[in-house]
Amino acid sequence: MDENCTFCKIIKGEIPSSKVYEDEEILAFNDINPATPIHILVIPKKHIKSLAEMKDGEEKIISKIYKVINEIAEKQGFKEKGYRVIVNCGKDAGQEVGHLHFHLLAGIKMGDKIV
Ligand code: AMP
Ligand code: ZN
Repeated sequence: MDENCTFCKIIKGEIPSSKVYEDEEILAFNDINPATPIHILVIPKKHIKSLAEMKDGEEKIISKIYKVINEIAEKQGFKEKGYRVIVNCGKDAGQEVGHLHFHLLAGIKMGDKIV
């Protein structure tokens, strides 16, 4: 946990969120400023700053996050139509929140540039 991290505050319930999925390691909630009709953020509960700052062993959570993404896609009914998963890492990618997060985008036919 990082006291100043927006997503850690969401995990702790200090900032409200519209939750889509939760287990002991992962939380998914709707993005506050959706880029597509369905825009969900999937995050590890452990505070990992970015993809580049992952430590040995932490890669296991990544495969679990992808599994959860597929479960959400199935439950919300967009698995067949398709979806896009994006991770912004660092300044050049425009990462704004320093807590690893996966953008799950769906609900519209997407062009090349989104998020
Ligand atoms: P990134 O630019 O990859 O760091 O994306 C950060 C995302 O977090 C943006 O899409 C924001 O709209 C979203 N975001 C920031 N604060 C909140 C919040 N309190 N609740 C939900 N989504 C948020
Ligand atoms: Zn955090």
